[in-house]
Amino acid sequence: MDKHTLNDFETLLAGSAREHGHLCAGQVIGVRMAILGLNLVGLRNTRNGPDIKKLVVYVEIDRCATDAIGYVTGVKLGRRSLKFKDYGVMAATFVNLETQRAFRVVSTERSRDLAASYVPDILDQSSAQLEAYKRMPLHDLFDVFEVRVDIPETDFPGPTRAKAVCESCGAVVRDGREIHENGRVLCHFCHGDVYYKHPLRVDLVKKNLSA
Ligand SMILES: [Zn+2]
Ligand SMILES: [Zn+2]
Repeated sequence: MDKHTLNDFETLLAGSAREHGHLCAGQVIGVRMAILGLNLVGLRNTRNGPDIKKLVVYVEIDRCATDAIGYVTGVKLGRRSLKFKDYGVMAATFVNLETQRAFRVVSTERSRDLAASYVPDILDQSSAQLEAYKRMPLHDLFDVFEVRVDIPETDFPGPTRAKAVCESCGAVVRDGREIHENGRVLCHFCHGDVYYKHPLRVDLVKKNLSA
């Protein structure tokens, strides 16, 4: 395992499985994907070191491996270093903010077909898959593309760069997420573009939940 010892890998995998809640094939893929991604963009130890500020990772699915990528790299939604694009694809893009170099790493379908050939000795299917993904060379496990990512100014980590006020409900909308409609500035709710409906205000005092 290039630039990282096997021991690093096992330690990261154990930590990632602990945080995720179970050890699964997705943890193996995610940990290996993250180690590769960091190597590709020339960063290391972003989890514990100052390099965390140089890294942004885009993930394209909200499944097991995503947690492993977050664990190994240390990127977090709340730090704006983890970006979620809901594409349903097992892939992640690692961006070095300092050098602008970026690599998209995609988990391959062929790795699923190849798995059995790496573990002829293991019968149980889920442990076979997990073990196979540990042994498989990276070029079978992943397809890698060097890409360019133009991160919008309003997506950068750091202090809030823009603030708007919804002209309909008064909500403060940060980071350029307001919607301009017929000359009016609106929040997503007032624009009619949210995931919830029929909001009904809850009185926390009456419900005895306020203290
Ligand atoms: Zn899992
Ligand atoms: Zn509004």
